[in-house]
Amino acid sequence: MTGSVDRMARVASERMQVRRHPERGVYSPQVIEAILDEAYICHVGFIAEGQPMVLPTVHAREGRTIYLHGAAANAMFSACAGHDICLTVTILDGLVLARSVYDHSMNYRSVVVVGRAEEVSDPEEKRRALRVLVDRVVEGRAEDAREPNENEVRATRVLRLGLDEASAKVRSGPPSDSETDLHLPVWAGVIPLRLAPDAPVPAPDLPADIPLPDYLAPERLLRRQARD
Ligand SMILES: Cc1cc2nc3c(=O)[nH]c(=O)nc-3n(C[C@H](O)[C@H](O)[C@H](O)COP(=O)(O)OP(=O)(O)OC[C@H]3O[C@@H](n4cnc5c(N)ncnc54)[C@H](O)[C@@H]3O)c2cc1C
Repeated sequence: MTGSVDRMARVASERMQVRRHPERGVYSPQVIEAILDEAYICHVGFIAEGQPMVLPTVHAREGRTIYLHGAAANAMFSACAGHDICLTVTILDGLVLARSVYDHSMNYRSVVVVGRAEEVSDPEEKRRALRVLVDRVVEGRAEDAREPNENEVRATRVLRLGLDEASAKVRSGPPSDSETDLHLPVWAGVIPLRLAPDAPVPAPDLPADIPLPDYLAPERLLRRQARD
């Protein structure tokens, strides 16, 4: 995806315009959604009793909605529900080593979303959101795992956040050394990075006759890490 993104497919709202390195700003919904879907975790920024706070959590997207879930007593959710929040995800694609200290960088794809977080109170939407959350982490899992019962649904809070205001920023490619540094006898280039699953480890109490499901096959798990 990097390198071939449609950077101008959608004009961002004023506050979502990437100003620092504007050429790295991407506003195409398809690109933003793909980054959100590939990232396993997000960070949620909110104000809790006057204190700015950023906490990591799991997110999942359905259409133009992002769902977050947590325990009923989750303090972050109490602070977020009905308020404006900022959600970010980051995928690290590489370490960029330049000849100079100044020009070192990273290759990445990141997304920032701002908007009002709304509590999902409808039990059916909550159930659907929980399935979406499980399936986004491991596709196919929701069909396999036991459905949440009523107590579990009650014990879970779900928040939704629209994707109306979102921006992506993408850096790819080699270091950008200045011309005056190109002669230096220092190695320069990129160390590509990716998150890759290891072989599944069965639970110690898993009966031996339960096989590994197809959706946990290594090539299926690696699908999320696929890049152009
Ligand atoms: C892995 C990683 C490492 C980074 N390392 C550094 C670093 O060491 N130093 C540094 O200065 N910056 C770094 N950045 C970039 C950083 O996220 C900011 O984009 C940058 O600091 C510019 O900040 P600003 O407040 O001037 O942004 P502005 O360009 O003024 O931000 C305006 C709007 O652009 C959008 N935006 C800005 N940054 C991002 C982003 N990363 N992703 C999606 N949308 C964005 C938001 O909607 C924001 O409201 C890094 C980013 C990543 C993902």
